[in-house]
Amino acid sequence: MTFFYARPDTAGYRIYALPRPMMPGDTATLEVTTAIENPGFVNDGYRREVLFNGTFTSGGIPSIGYDANLELEGDEDRKKYDLPEKPDDLPPHRDPYGERTLLFNDDADFVTFECIVSTVPDQIAVAPGYLQREWTEGDRHYFHYKQDSKINYFFNLVSARYEVLRDKWVSPDGKEVNIEIFHHAEHTYNLDRFVASLKDGLGYFYQNFGPYQFRQVRILEFPRYAVFAQSFPNTIPYSEDFGWFADFSDPNDYDYAYYVTAHELAHQWWGHQVSPNYTRGANLVSESLAEYSALMIAKQKYGPDNVQQFLKYDLDRYLRGRANESKKENVFINCNRAYQWYQKGSIILYGLQDYVGESTLNGAIRAFRDSFGLKETPPFPGSYDLYDFVKKVVPDSLHYYLEDSWLKIALYENRVISAKAKKTGDNQYEVTLKVKARKMYADEKGNESEAPDTNDLIDIGIFAEDKVEDNGKN
Ligand SMILES: [Zn+2]
Repeated sequence: MTFFYARPDTAGYRIYALPRPMMPGDTATLEVTTAIENPGFVNDGYRREVLFNGTFTSGGIPSIGYDANLELEGDEDRKKYDLPEKPDDLPPHRDPYGERTLLFNDDADFVTFECIVSTVPDQIAVAPGYLQREWTEGDRHYFHYKQDSKINYFFNLVSARYEVLRDKWVSPDGKEVNIEIFHHAEHTYNLDRFVASLKDGLGYFYQNFGPYQFRQVRILEFPRYAVFAQSFPNTIPYSEDFGWFADFSDPNDYDYAYYVTAHELAHQWWGHQVSPNYTRGANLVSESLAEYSALMIAKQKYGPDNVQQFLKYDLDRYLRGRANESKKENVFINCNRAYQWYQKGSIILYGLQDYVGESTLNGAIRAFRDSFGLKETPPFPGSYDLYDFVKKVVPDSLHYYLEDSWLKIALYENRVISAKAKKTGDNQYEVTLKVKARKMYADEKGNESEAPDTNDLIDIGIFAEDKVEDNGKN
């Protein structure tokens, strides 16, 4: 399989006439021959798809039909060409086209996938699916992968001089999942963290959200020309710079290798089992649920006190995100920015499980997954579907929280004005606090107004003296 890229002279699109028009339900074979070419040197930037050691490329097959994502986006650019401003939002909730279409590609729903890929003799090439055969022919090393269940039309190819760490996880009903970590030979420092996160995640997600749909999960290191990890079906390319040689020996450090692995694994449920539709806010079904799932794994591993540092980071990132917002801030259910579906989503869902209980919220998420998981035909779910499932388990007394967090932009200004403590006995204190609490609603332009009739639950924490835990954490 090879790839096609836009050349400036053609603007990257071609129009073909079919010998006869296709009717609904008709099939046709489309053969594509393409190549990635990098002639000469560029003035700036670089292409990182095909490398000497560490190729990682995804997609690459031309998309069919009109792609509005390739239009000029910026207001300034559009002005220059006398174009009207481009609407910032996806189609509204319950839009018939939006509900029929998957967020991550509009070319196909679920597909069958099979791939034969070759590389140089000393490298391993990997694509989604189970390895059927591996052989050498001429000076090429071949691999044949086949996925035996339908998946999103969303795949990657990697190739590198890999070492492979193999392990196994067995589900409570006896199904084996092969764990494979494809890594650069020297990068062995944190492999146990990747494996531990995968095992903890497989266990927790199985218990709380339902079975894992594959028999393998693979993490594949790629070079630090880019810093991210991405979840393809049973296959997770993962940047070298994202924890492979990080020093986590200080127990107070943020264990992002563990956390990011849990997040990417969670996408096998949120994204691959339950695929969001193409309506506004739908990406929270993928990203916010993956963040929530990773937070639950971190809470289980490091304890709720230690999750505070994750949440503090999320709160700061959310507030910074909205402060730098150049257009308008959407309410969470219509989220259209990363700071909303990652950071705000984390805080909202973590808060919800704090209020209604982890198992209650997980029950709602499980029911949502049971309704839409591995659904091959539309309608696909949007943010409002998840909201409906969650609302069912939230008592009336907390509906204000749900509405504040999903349907409005609510901000608190809470602080302790003064605090006094009096020792009343052994390990007993009488503590008097003067607290100021205030809630504001913001509109999409950031204008704030005092929230009327505030009658909210507000946590007040009183900390004991700092002590070092058994695991060395402060
Ligand atoms: Zn993600």
